[in-house]
Amino acid sequence: MRIASRLYYSAVIVILLFSAVGAGAADQTIVLKAARMFDGKSKALAQNVVVVVQGDKIVDVGSNVAIPSDAKVIDLGDMTLSPGFMDAHTHLTLDFSGDFNKRRLEQLDLNVSEQAIRAVGYARKTVEAGFTTVRDVGSRFVSSREFVDVALRNAINKGVIVGPRMLVATKGIGATGGHFDPTGGFRDFLFGREPDYTDGIANGPDEVRKAVRFEVKNGADVIKAAVSGGVLSLADEVDTPQFTPAEMAALVDESHRLRKKVAVHCHGDQAAHEAIEAGVDSIEHGSFMKPQTVALLKQKGTFLTPTLMASEYIMSKIDQYPPTLQAKAREATAARSEMFRNAVKMGVRISFGTDAAVFPHGQNAKEFALMTGPGMTAIDALKSATSNDAELLGIAQKVGTLEKGKLADIIAMPGDPIADITATERVSFVMKEGKIIRNGTPSMRTAAESTNITDTAAPVD
Ligand SMILES: [Zn+2]
Repeated sequence: MRIASRLYYSAVIVILLFSAVGAGAADQTIVLKAARMFDGKSKALAQNVVVVVQGDKIVDVGSNVAIPSDAKVIDLGDMTLSPGFMDAHTHLTLDFSGDFNKRRLEQLDLNVSEQAIRAVGYARKTVEAGFTTVRDVGSRFVSSREFVDVALRNAINKGVIVGPRMLVATKGIGATGGHFDPTGGFRDFLFGREPDYTDGIANGPDEVRKAVRFEVKNGADVIKAAVSGGVLSLADEVDTPQFTPAEMAALVDESHRLRKKVAVHCHGDQAAHEAIEAGVDSIEHGSFMKPQTVALLKQKGTFLTPTLMASEYIMSKIDQYPPTLQAKAREATAARSEMFRNAVKMGVRISFGTDAAVFPHGQNAKEFALMTGPGMTAIDALKSATSNDAELLGIAQKVGTLEKGKLADIIAMPGDPIADITATERVSFVMKEGKIIRNGTPSMRTAAESTNITDTAAPVD
């Protein structure tokens, strides 16, 4: 008995020794040093900071922090550290940039698997641009029942591919003939059947509940719905309501029962008013919201995700869209500037979201300059992409600030983003959950981009 127990204890000690060695190797302490830091919530940048990372977490942060002797020190010099940026409105499985009609045909030509393979590149570009988390609000392939966003999220979580942490919405839910109806604008019955709840198309409160349940069953982290018309859909008007108040109430009730937040695509004022009253968590776009509706948004604490990049990009190449879409884009863009200025003035909670896919993936940070143009301060814009988005996404206990105990999602950009907000477009260091994804030149290039490469610095991965 005594021998047995001695053997047992020896075995335990050996196991403990081995696991201690194992933990040491896996959890090399990394220390990041930089001239400045935005911590995600303070009103000003901190100077000369050190962030200590062990495993996937931040274990210490500040100006007077002892550097562990065994740490690997990365001195980023005249850069600014920030929590990894978040984008609350992306479509990482899609790409609507480029010629509209060509894209429209391409979505009929391309095998969904091929589109999924392209999405792997979009995910990599996004994270290498400093966006370590995205809320991906809609992944739809006409006449396909694939859940490509769920697959992309899972492959990233399992470490199969590199990309941002994704909260996905699967198809998104909308009305027959509305912004989300994938057959809208095509000849009737071209695809052989009317889309139903399995495509995210639902009519009436009960069907809306069924669609929510179906999407959650298939992996949705968040529920997205289109409650008004949109710009890039051919068969609707941009500001018409597309859900009834009863449908919106069912949408919010069912989603919240299942502990999922609700983001609604909404340009129109009436639809926004009804959606805010119904209790949605964020209004996406919000272009035509009148001051009274913006005031209601403020009163209810609902987030506004302005997606200024989307209309900016469309307006920059407006001639390439069909005439009906050109008219919708012009109207929405003209209205949203005043709406956004009002929202900033009234102190509405603003989340950072871009609608990436409308413009090429990886350019998300251009939204910052568009937000500060109409009066938002640089620090508030940075907050919108970090602590605000973390709160909207319901992950603020894990990410969004650089604090002890948080996951080590840390990025760095050259210079001072308060003096020049476009520094956010030049992120060159990206760490996600303690792993360095980029330190210097990005690794992500498509074959077409590779032909122009002169700089061959090895990427850090
Ligand atoms: Zn969108």
